[in-house]
Amino acid sequence: AALDRIQSRNPALGAFLTVQGDTALAAARAVDAQRTRGEPLGPLAGVPIGLKDALCSADAPATAGSLVLTRKAPRDGSPERDPERGYRPPYDATVVARLRAAGAILPGKCNMDEFAMGSSNENSAFFPARNPWDSERTPGGSSGGSAVAVAAGMTPGALGSDTGGSIRQPAALTGVVGVKPTYGRVSRYGLIAFASSLDQIGPFAADVRGAARLLEVIAGHDPRDATSLPVAVDAYEAACGRDVAGLRIGVPEEYFAEGIEPGVDAAVRRALDGLRGLGCEVRPVHLPHTRHAVAAYYIVATAEASSNLARFDGVRFGLREDASQGDLRGMYGKTRGAGFGPEVKRRIMLGTYVLSAGYYDAYYLRAQKVRTLIQRDFDAAFRKVDLIAAPVSPTTAFRLGDRTDDPLAMYLADVYTLPASLAGLPALSVPCGLAPAPDAPTASATRSVISSLIDSAIAK
Ligand code: GLN
Repeated sequence: AALDRIQSRNPALGAFLTVQGDTALAAARAVDAQRTRGEPLGPLAGVPIGLKDALCSADAPATAGSLVLTRKAPRDGSPERDPERGYRPPYDATVVARLRAAGAILPGKCNMDEFAMGSSNENSAFFPARNPWDSERTPGGSSGGSAVAVAAGMTPGALGSDTGGSIRQPAALTGVVGVKPTYGRVSRYGLIAFASSLDQIGPFAADVRGAARLLEVIAGHDPRDATSLPVAVDAYEAACGRDVAGLRIGVPEEYFAEGIEPGVDAAVRRALDGLRGLGCEVRPVHLPHTRHAVAAYYIVATAEASSNLARFDGVRFGLREDASQGDLRGMYGKTRGAGFGPEVKRRIMLGTYVLSAGYYDAYYLRAQKVRTLIQRDFDAAFRKVDLIAAPVSPTTAFRLGDRTDDPLAMYLADVYTLPASLAGLPALSVPCGLAPAPDAPTASATRSVISSLIDSAIAK
């Protein structure tokens, strides 16, 4: 059913870059045989899960949305940009191996901004993913394809990666649930790196319970990732549905400042009223360094990216341009010139600049200090409250093309997601556009309204 739905909806929505129908069906039959034999089934037995194309899976190409990870087109009229010609990883990422062990079926690789750099999926080297609620609009990015796979009902869950908002923002813009786990909670072994001090893999699902189950499967210590935390995994799914009464919820005033769309502001405030109605204590908190988060993030992330992306040199992976003259440096330059898109080049240049002699102290070092101040803001807030509730994105899904000429406008829209990334904190994005008004019955009523809306959107 998932493959049928991908086949019918993907041409219009661009959620998947490649589909592995045969291997997925074979895996599904194997799970079914297990069931017939009465063997114990894993927590995701038979459940199709989409994978962001930055994740390595041994039975599929991995492009990270970039031409630099694809082989050149043969001179036979085949398309110049074809994700099927992507790099073939020789191994599964740890999260992929854990999904398989839990019985999940992996039907395909999801569209993304090139090397996870972007907030609209328009930086994909192949084609943008489109929002299933309105296909002229962005689903957000960089894990846009994973969000669309879930929002359009192609797969009940998907994995994305979040460096500065790339799971939370597309979840918000498509009306699904997305989780960025605590830094170190989920192994990144087999994730094509963007900014290593920030990258985390996390789940998308139609509801919180689904996301909890997925996270429980992929989380946990992995000796293959040096940043992976040796901490036991809690029973996230069993914790779902617990009473929220008595929770102290902080609302950062800095997140409701200039630039927030009135409709977003109103929806979030209505949701806060809903939480009050459920017995939560909602009170203001201050995160005074929020206004420096965009600047600090775009220094730290580009610095790390300029280093991580040095490995794409035409020797080891994917594309190689003209090595004929025995001119190695020329080959590097041509390969990287042809293989990287404009946003990736912009970031490599920015990152190289902020790390260079004479500028390191002025930019990189200062950004690291600001990062510490942002962490301290949260430390102080969490002495007073149990959790923080805030908008994910200052606007709803914008039109494709609206921000492509203005990278700074695109960066500024990350203002609400970047602070948690810089602080290494976990963050969940949950739909609230239809949050219960104070007099509405319960959150579960909201949930059924949302799922019936999703059903009708899917039907449409
Ligand atoms: N939009 C942010 C960026 O472009 C975050 C991306 C991400 O989380 N991967 O860097």
